[in-house]
Amino acid sequence: MSDGKWVEECGVFGVFDPKKVLHEAARLAYYGIFSLQHRGQESAGIVVNHAGQFLGHKGVGLVVDVFDDLHLSMMTGHAAVGHVRFPDPGEGGSDVIQPMQIKSKAGQLAIATNGSIINADEIRTQLKELGAIFQTTADFEVILTLLARNRIASDCIEDAILQVMSEIKGAYSTVIMTDDRLIGFRDPLGIRPLIIGKKDSSYIFASESCALDAIGAETIRDVLPGEVITVSEDGLFSRYYIPQETAHSNGKLCIFEFVYFARPDSCLDGASVHQSRVNTGRALAREAPCECDVVVAAPDSGVAAAMGYAMESGIPYGSALLKNRYIGRTFIQATQLQREMSVRLKFSVLKSEVRGKKIVIVDDSIVRGTTMRNNIQILREAGAKEVHLRVASPPVRFPCYYGVSASNPDELTASRSSVEEIRTAIGADSLAYVSLEGLKASTEGILCGHCASCFDGAFPAGVPECHAEIYSEKSLEENEAK
Ligand code: SF4
Repeated sequence: MSDGKWVEECGVFGVFDPKKVLHEAARLAYYGIFSLQHRGQESAGIVVNHAGQFLGHKGVGLVVDVFDDLHLSMMTGHAAVGHVRFPDPGEGGSDVIQPMQIKSKAGQLAIATNGSIINADEIRTQLKELGAIFQTTADFEVILTLLARNRIASDCIEDAILQVMSEIKGAYSTVIMTDDRLIGFRDPLGIRPLIIGKKDSSYIFASESCALDAIGAETIRDVLPGEVITVSEDGLFSRYYIPQETAHSNGKLCIFEFVYFARPDSCLDGASVHQSRVNTGRALAREAPCECDVVVAAPDSGVAAAMGYAMESGIPYGSALLKNRYIGRTFIQATQLQREMSVRLKFSVLKSEVRGKKIVIVDDSIVRGTTMRNNIQILREAGAKEVHLRVASPPVRFPCYYGVSASNPDELTASRSSVEEIRTAIGADSLAYVSLEGLKASTEGILCGHCASCFDGAFPAGVPECHAEIYSEKSLEENEAK
């Protein structure tokens, strides 16, 4: 988590020029993953096809820390895959940094994936019994090992990928580079986003459209749920795991991409992220009005929703809470004093905007509520008469098993507390959340459905076997009763 928020675990990028005019594929990948940095800040990597030889460079840190001009000038080639990631708790070390590359009988492969395979442990155990050796605990190695095995039975890598898709469960948007092609595919529910675009004669896959915009590529379209798109010297062709005509109706894009994960200038499956956040703020103002003097955003995640709330309610929008951009993520917070100082140094208040006023503060989501409690406290200290909290997503009551770094229900305030208990703990005068219906309706123009499992516990792609008991009907009813 970052600032008490969930964090997306990965961003993927791939580029391939069938005409081999492009020599700076790695540099394009660098700019691509740089613009996907919000999806993972722990590590970065790029593998390039350098005249037939796969060259990789990866490391821990931000994209700008891992790569310098020397690396990129040596990594020439017409095709590349790149990746940024945030690790699962307990998962670390350089072994799990993507892209991963292997050499098999069928040639070289490099993989970059975003998501999570919920039956990875079972598959890993079965493959080990068949003699497979794993170097990491990462899901991408399970995909790669299955793929290498399926290639033995099939000359066609796309057939092998479709076979892998029949064996794995979960959420995955994946880009694979082989000796002669680049392949992008999305799980049958399309839970994690993936888009394809074009720049000159090169085709590009990226987690979000903002990466295409950043390199001056035009968007072609989103990869469909269950679609496998290949780019090769023969051009572009698709295979489908599910019938093409049902792909959109089957789709369940992660709704949290719109709440928080995705960059506001991205468009996912036909819906603008920024517009959906503004729409949610408007819905929140209709559903949970508040008699106040000023609407304030929780910086920076609540800005678009707060603007929507202000527009719909007619209450003026004010910049009262400011975030210090120079606080590093490594700020040490071992003691209570250090934690308190961390908040005071991270956020500051424009006292003149707050003193004597009734404030409504809008945030995109509340997962643990620690940062919000501190923000409300500093608003009160600055002289706010009342502080009301409005949240532009429903209570997060369930963990995510589909590629987000939080899987323990105990970490989720709303899974064990009522709204009133949370209000008291956070110290707000009132607290209200937008409804799930209001949030879904805000993703105006979306071409598919939503995964909203962290709000409703539906888990369309299932849950790991070891957690199945938690989601038995009885447990869900008990949770519902809260
Ligand atoms: Fe997104 Fe929540 Fe579904 Fe996870 S459970 S994929 S965070 S909507």
